[in-house]
Amino acid sequence: MSKAFNARAAIEEVSFTVREREFVAVLGPSGAGKTTLFRCLTGLLAPDRGEIRIGGDDIGALRGRSRRRIAVVFQQFNLVNRLTAFENVLAGRLGYVPAWRGWLRRFGRTDRLFALECLDRVGLLGQAMQRADTLSGGQQQRVAIARALAQRPSLIVADEPVASLDPNASVGVLDLLRGIARADGVGVVCSLHQVHFARAYADRVVGLSHGRVVIDAPTDRFDQAAFERLYGPQPAEAAPTALAALQH
Ligand code: ADP
Repeated sequence: MSKAFNARAAIEEVSFTVREREFVAVLGPSGAGKTTLFRCLTGLLAPDRGEIRIGGDDIGALRGRSRRRIAVVFQQFNLVNRLTAFENVLAGRLGYVPAWRGWLRRFGRTDRLFALECLDRVGLLGQAMQRADTLSGGQQQRVAIARALAQRPSLIVADEPVASLDPNASVGVLDLLRGIARADGVGVVCSLHQVHFARAYADRVVGLSHGRVVIDAPTDRFDQAAFERLYGPQPAEAAPTALAALQH
């Protein structure tokens, strides 16, 4: 995909594949084009050129229900505060939150049980009836992951999912996402700021720089040279730190 703003390319011929069961981390310095890429992936922004294919289907050309094959997990969770965890997950089955009263009655027993099952998978069955805004940040992000699961997606797009979380909650969320990729055969594409999280969780690293893919490699090949290709040469005194972050 390519996307320009005011004739300046934000992403330029960015192309990569996410396989079933694969956790792909997207890394890159500020301004590299990560936000633009993720907005295109989630349909918030239309690329100037290019497409997202799931299997043989061009997702951009699909409407409504078919778009549910891509589930999104946001940095700021994007739950409806006044609804319970359970209701937020159910709303995920619709892809939006209806404003009319009585919308919950539209869901049959199967949908409701499935929503509870999704909450159970993220360890929050006990909090099902709690209002979203009374949950911790880590718990809210896990509800958002349960909501994504309720869509039965083929691909989960996670846009900086741990940027607002402390290290413990971050590990919980990344464990879940990787576990879902493995267990459900879902592809996960996840942008991350912390290189050490990519090292610990990703199968592959896609590195963006100036709007282009400059690295697309298995995580164990993401070495110091690759790190510098992405983030620029590290000053001598900073190099050990950068390396430590990689080896963390
Ligand atoms: P990142 O998320 O990696 O920091 P962005 O996708 O936000 O990168 O930005 C990539 C480039 O596109 C930057 O040069 C940025 O200034 C530009 N850009 C992003 N969004 C817009 C916009 N809505 N209007 C104009 N320029 C934009």
